[in-house]
Amino acid sequence: MVTVTTNEVMQGLRDSEFILHYQPKASLISNRIVGAEALARWQRPDGVLLPPGAFIPVAERSGLINRLTLQLLPKLMDDLAAKGISSDMCVSFNVTAPDLEDDVLTEQILASAAQGSLPAGSLELEITETQAMQAGHRMVRNVDALAEAGIGLAMDDYGVGYSSIDTLSQWPFTSIKLDQGIVGRMLNSTKNATIVRSSIRLGHELGLHVVAEGVETSEQHDFLVEAGCEIAQGYLVSHPLPLAEFDVFRHNIGKC
Ligand code: C2E
Ligand code: CA
Ligand code: CA
Ligand code: CA
Repeated sequence: MVTVTTNEVMQGLRDSEFILHYQPKASLISNRIVGAEALARWQRPDGVLLPPGAFIPVAERSGLINRLTLQLLPKLMDDLAAKGISSDMCVSFNVTAPDLEDDVLTEQILASAAQGSLPAGSLELEITETQAMQAGHRMVRNVDALAEAGIGLAMDDYGVGYSSIDTLSQWPFTSIKLDQGIVGRMLNSTKNATIVRSSIRLGHELGLHVVAEGVETSEQHDFLVEAGCEIAQGYLVSHPLPLAEFDVFRHNIGKC
């Protein structure tokens, strides 16, 4: 894995080199594309495309994550508007605890969602449970304001934290995303299968959408359909794609 320095991230921010790719989410009921997760990439001037693992941790440690999120947000809105994606899809965007602790950034999300052509329910923020557990009082208030405005909230990487159930009960989540680790192991043992089945049931009983991440095989797909999971994201459907390719992909597969 390439590692970058804080100064390089700062330079990349100045030169606006961060972009988003889109990984399709497919309905396990209709098989249609019902949304996407926006995933950050760093388009370096030398043509190299860096994955988030190379720069998100650096941005988080150096306190540059808010600036990165602030740079990506208008790009997300421009992308959605350019491709008319907002009208029929739910697109999710990853945020961190410092992002939602920040009132300015939260205002920006609210303003973007209100200004754009986004109907309520078509933008969702993803946050990991570990991030949610770091919440201060400003974040709690901001999350409520976002929920009030109809912006969805997904608990990311569900199943790898320690107190998911407690966090689920305290936050206005609208969906949970089963972590790719538990999805990858669910066919290895009946115990793992039971954990996934009961997580799906718990999510539904709490009135949440349940998305399975990291779906790579048709066996996993079939198990999830049988277990009542609604949405799949993973290499079986598609890798994350540049905007133009995502647009072609979703039109070829059909929409909901
Ligand atoms: P995540 O939010 O859990 O995103 C899912 C990751 O799993 C993505 O990696 C995606 O490409 C990968 N993936 C999708 N399907 C499969 C599959 O079938 N098999 C396997 N093995 N992997 C799959 P990516 O794009 O490298 O992102 C890594 C992490 O970086 C994300 O994990 C997220 O935590 C973070 N990240 C990405 N974009 C952003 C962003 O804009 N802001 C913030 N704060 N974090 C971001
Ligand atoms: Ca995510
Ligand atoms: Ca995840
Ligand atoms: Ca993850």
